[in-house]
Amino acid sequence: MTEKNIINGRLLEIQRMSTEDGPGIRTTIFLKGCTLHCSWCHNPESISPKPQLQWLKSNCIGCQLCVAACPNNSLSYIDNQIIIDRNICEACGICVEECPTGALEMMGQEITVEEVVQEVLKDKAYFEKSGGGITVSGGEPTLQAGFVAEFMKRMKENDIHTALDTCGLAPAAAYEKILPYTDLLLYDIKEIDSNKHKEFTGSSNEKILNNLLTLSEWMKIHGSPKALWIRTPIIPDATGTEENIAGIGQFIAKNNLHPDRWELCAFNNLCNDKYQRLGQKWTFEKYGLLSADEMEQLTEIAKNSGVNRENILWTGSVKTKEKIILTKDNEPKPVDYCRITGLPDEES
Ligand code: SF4
Ligand code: SF4
Repeated sequence: MTEKNIINGRLLEIQRMSTEDGPGIRTTIFLKGCTLHCSWCHNPESISPKPQLQWLKSNCIGCQLCVAACPNNSLSYIDNQIIIDRNICEACGICVEECPTGALEMMGQEITVEEVVQEVLKDKAYFEKSGGGITVSGGEPTLQAGFVAEFMKRMKENDIHTALDTCGLAPAAAYEKILPYTDLLLYDIKEIDSNKHKEFTGSSNEKILNNLLTLSEWMKIHGSPKALWIRTPIIPDATGTEENIAGIGQFIAKNNLHPDRWELCAFNNLCNDKYQRLGQKWTFEKYGLLSADEMEQLTEIAKNSGVNRENILWTGSVKTKEKIILTKDNEPKPVDYCRITGLPDEES
């Protein structure tokens, strides 16, 4: 076995048929472990670098075989719920093996580069037809830079388009390993005010902004990655303010970053279940989707900030009030429904 076959990574999941993490149809490789702790995180199971046990209530039949099997007495069954004492759970996986219905899952498996390569190559025909490829995301993939670099290199050897999705908080050395094999850099600027950034994510933003300037220079010198997409999550009562979007736009314009795309990503609440499975409370539990009007308003602010208007768009699910139904009493009633939009007309 050669060296390249034995580099291990900590995988959260491989998600196929993604259309959100770069052009075309993509297979996204989510890795475990992150350098930020965003309060709105949509992948809370990716934050910890360690394996984590989760319980899926809908699959549980209450047999309590898991409780009996745990060598650490980490599990109890109270009020029809499995309670996991995470202070003493060692993530050994015995209960997962014992559960007859798949109601317990261990997130974060060790995987080799070769195993991921073989898995992803199954999707090559989709990439070729759609102009897609792979995206490595997380968590923060640069925490596993050796693994990611080797994997991306293998992708390039197979003529597959590669994207790196990073939160920007990583040492330069980690980027230097990965970027030679990266076609598209997906880079988050979440909040321009450093104090707020710290409040929302656990870290200030100076290093993230400086890294972006350095990486932009790297791209000019090395010609790789060829494309830069900046992404800003629009979070209600946090990043989704006119002041923040205008500030980010001014930073991009002032530093001549010229991203190929600046994407405002609408908040969604689909991750609520994930927090419940991990036994965690989510700050944004009660928040609903934003409206198309709110997203369009912020997009207009972005377009007037000095960044090339043509390259700015918003994406994600939003609520609209455009649909009217008749109630039982024949009263017209507006109904919320979701749509995925924000792409320029020619792309939607
Ligand atoms: S993973 Fe191991 S230690 Fe944790 S609850 Fe299951 S059996 Fe117990
Ligand atoms: S073994 Fe599985 S189905 Fe049985 S109580 Fe535990 S989690 Fe539920």
